[in-house]
Amino acid sequence: MSDQLNYEVIVIGAGPAGYAGAIRAAQLGLKTACIDRSVGKDGQPSLGGTCLNWGCIPSKALLDASQKYAELQGLDTFGIETKEVRLDLPKMIARKDAVVARLTGGISSLFQANGVDFFPGTGRLLSGRRVVWTDHEGSTTELTAEHVVLAPGSVPIDIDAAPVSNEGIVDSTGALEFDVVPRQLGIIGAGVIGLELGSVWARLGSKVIVLEALDSFLPMVDTRIAHEALRTLRKQGLDIRLGARVVAATEANDSVEVVYRDEDGDQNISVEKLIVAVGRRPYTENLLAQDSGVSLDERGFLYVNDLCETGVPGVFAVGDVVRGPMLAHKGAEEGVMVAERIAGFKPLVNYTTVPNVIYTHPEIAWVGRNEQELTSEGEAIATGSFSFGASGRALAANDAEGMVKIVADADSDQILGVHVIGPHASELIAQAVIAMEFSASAEDLGLTMFAHPTLSEAVHEAALAVDGRAIHTVNRKKK
Ligand code: FAD
Ligand code: NAD
Repeated sequence: MSDQLNYEVIVIGAGPAGYAGAIRAAQLGLKTACIDRSVGKDGQPSLGGTCLNWGCIPSKALLDASQKYAELQGLDTFGIETKEVRLDLPKMIARKDAVVARLTGGISSLFQANGVDFFPGTGRLLSGRRVVWTDHEGSTTELTAEHVVLAPGSVPIDIDAAPVSNEGIVDSTGALEFDVVPRQLGIIGAGVIGLELGSVWARLGSKVIVLEALDSFLPMVDTRIAHEALRTLRKQGLDIRLGARVVAATEANDSVEVVYRDEDGDQNISVEKLIVAVGRRPYTENLLAQDSGVSLDERGFLYVNDLCETGVPGVFAVGDVVRGPMLAHKGAEEGVMVAERIAGFKPLVNYTTVPNVIYTHPEIAWVGRNEQELTSEGEAIATGSFSFGASGRALAANDAEGMVKIVADADSDQILGVHVIGPHASELIAQAVIAMEFSASAEDLGLTMFAHPTLSEAVHEAALAVDGRAIHTVNRKKK
């Protein structure tokens, strides 16, 4: 060991969970360091973790760009004639990289402005809240801390049936970097990544086949919304095959030969590229010395309680590496909570109001419980829904597919869940999160005034519909 440095807080990992926690700790006056090993496309350290480098941000940059490209081809509906629309894929990818560079550089500036010491390289927790930092050249330094926050994130799950080569077979990272649009694109997994990246490449011209092992589509989503999503995405050209488990994939010259098994036996398809998007797993390789005292749960996540405390006093874990949804905002809230608790405050994360969004078009978003979960548990519920087909603003924008559905407790009328498929669902869901944070009833939302004409009126009308009082749709007869 060449040196000894002491901190009040050391954070390992600078994704949304780690960097948010490090910045908040420094804001609160704690002497804070953050170690992160990620390196960007330019070979330089790049803060922001999966989300900024290979996840949320680059995927949304391509989703937005490809959506603009797709919309340009349908502008005649608005009475706008376009000449030939051409795709410049290298430019689209370069713009995505520029957005990533701007945001990752932004975290670097925020670290400097807040006084977070950044150590590029790998961190490993030893016993006694000691941390070994190994820099990118391989030299090691021991740091000590009063508190350590572990935020190493997650990585894609590999399957033996389709080993990622980064040539024909890629994971989500490779799928953000194609230099030509694949003519035929196979995707294993109709989860969030499969549908988002499938949408990008289908809009740019790929013939996309999505192979999903389960018989059901988006089982975590309200059944009515999932049904609508499947119908709409198939109409857009995504060939989504359910009950299709991939059993083998081999790369030939310029193709990938895929074998999947469905109820009729083995089926073969040939594609130019194959994306493996079968989930992510917590990343804990080389993170813990044997005597660190931190334990993993049976699924390989770092074990923590609701306050993100591991079993070792002063050692916390946050983000994708711990239980709960693998979402950037969930991790960031945990990072901030831990920093504030270290500083002596008592915040909590409300895990019942974590919003989920799938950035297809239309977008799918939800918060809280859905109808099938609640009815299977015997809860008495009331529901109200409103279709964007009856929304003046959605029709004006020619973007009127989908609906808002609100699920409330039948007795108290408290909102238990809100489910949206439709334009700007990712933004609309924030209204539901706020309502649920304040334990609002459907009536509370119904009594609130919404500007006209807006998409938000669909939230208002769905809330009114819970009690059969929607104005711009025919209400279900009350029993
Ligand atoms: P990460 O972001 O994974 O960051 C962990 C960091 O720690 C990494 O930089 C890693 O290199 C570093 N690290 C690991 N081990 C060590 C170590 N021992 N020493 C030093 N550094 C270490 N979520 C959303 O909420 N919205 C989205 O739209 C969204 N889109 C996504 C799209 C894609 C394609 C993918 C793959 C993911 C997406 N996610 C999205 C998920 C989101 O990226 C993760 O939930 C989020 O990044 C988790 O944050 P984290 O801080 O826990 O971990
Ligand atoms: P996922 O769990 O959402 O979906 C994986 C799908 O692959 C499942 O439906 C599973 O049944 C299927 N599958 C598994 N093995 C298979 C096989 N052999 N053949 C066919 N199908 C198979 O995982 P993901 O889409 O990889 O996403 C990983 C994580 O990243 C998610 O947990 C999500 O939270 C996060 N993420 C979030 C966003 C967002 O918030 N918009 C976007 C991207 C990723």
